Amino acid sequence: MDDNQTPLVDRHRAVLPSWLALYYADPIEIVSAEGRHVTDSTGTTYLDFFAGILTNAIGYDVAEISDAIRRQLDTGVLHTSTLYLIRGQVELAEKIAKLSNIPDAKVFFTNSGTEANETALMLCTQFRRSNQVLALRNSYHGRAFGTVAITGNRGWSASSLSPVKVSYVHGGYPYRSPFGHLSDVDYIRACTDDLREILQTTTSGDVACMIAEPIQGVGGFCTPPDGLFAAFKDVLDEYGILLVSDEVQTGWGRTGEHFWGMDSHGVTADIMTFAKGLGNGLAIGGLVARADVMDCLTANSISTFGGNPVATAGANAALDFLLDNDLQGNAAKLGVRLTEGLHDIAARHPVVGDVRGKGLMIGVELVEPGGRTPNAKAAMTVLEQTRAHGLLVGKGGMHNNVIRLAPPMTLTEGEVDEALDALGHAIAAADGEAR
Ligand code: PMP
Repeated sequence: MDDNQTPLVDRHRAVLPSWLALYYADPIEIVSAEGRHVTDSTGTTYLDFFAGILTNAIGYDVAEISDAIRRQLDTGVLHTSTLYLIRGQVELAEKIAKLSNIPDAKVFFTNSGTEANETALMLCTQFRRSNQVLALRNSYHGRAFGTVAITGNRGWSASSLSPVKVSYVHGGYPYRSPFGHLSDVDYIRACTDDLREILQTTTSGDVACMIAEPIQGVGGFCTPPDGLFAAFKDVLDEYGILLVSDEVQTGWGRTGEHFWGMDSHGVTADIMTFAKGLGNGLAIGGLVARADVMDCLTANSISTFGGNPVATAGANAALDFLLDNDLQGNAAKLGVRLTEGLHDIAARHPVVGDVRGKGLMIGVELVEPGGRTPNAKAAMTVLEQTRAHGLLVGKGGMHNNVIRLAPPMTLTEGEVDEALDALGHAIAAADGEAR
């Protein structure tokens, strides 16, 4: 038993980095969970609409997943390394290759989204023999040197050091885009013209890849019009530039209408990277790529833990569960209910500037009433007030003024209504403060 009397938050701050932010003035320690609810160390239970940053995609205490992990533990084998055959890894790769719609696909497993994107950069730069990369403004792709370099958000860019030369393109964040006032068709045209100009003016043409989140996650669930990436891909194809879709947040059916976020644009990427939801909480990420791209490395490469027996046992069970129970369909259906409820709240409260997203990935951008000036204070109020009403939500955006809603995809209608009730109270409080 731990008999240290110092509050856990003080112990946390003493030994963990200052830049590892905690939510809430009075941070929460989650000690147990079931379904879509988590319970903290004081015994308070919350409905969870952030799901460990979109990671507990199916929810908590799912017997099929826990049993699969337990069966693996019972073999005595937690780890073998990729020097040996791992049945669960092969099976999971087969499923993901098939689901990807990438012809002749191959899969490599990592432990995180960062490593998945680092691997994608390695593959594309080697395949194309080029160090030039296109990324989107307001993107987030991870925390290592390569991925910070392609992250277009000052708040997450701790260093300017970069192994790649990056050009940032417009398009991911329509609400604050200089082209945001245009119709979808004209917006796509303006962003595509800009892409052409960037290729002409800031690159030598032989660019390795474009990497993009179909819906920007950390950036505040910014949702470009369907078809943007199809128009981009036409330009990329003229140059032979590879398209990498970062599906770390948008994958596994969360967007409701499709299994992968990029599918909304009617294009298949050359590489998709993934993590978060796949393991329903286990540390697993990876990428699925065209075989010629995946196989292009001429040196050895290894992730010691990548695709380990425990993570792949859990991920196989999680993936089977979400397919067998059509959680994508549930995300589509309940996403509509959630979005409609939020539009009703927004109509009453001008502190809400924008409601956007797809399926169960919905962003609520908070502004100074009467305009579009970002209102980070209102987002803080909504975060604290939803908690006070028993709901956990996420926060993000370039200006820290976006509430992010991404519950487990096993959500029920009753839970949507419960969340809307808490959000209604919290947004009313923020609206009152803002006037
Ligand atoms: N890509 C996207 C789109 C993400 O949202 C994240 C994590 N927030 C990452 C990559 C990095 O994943 P990880 O934190 O697992 O390294």
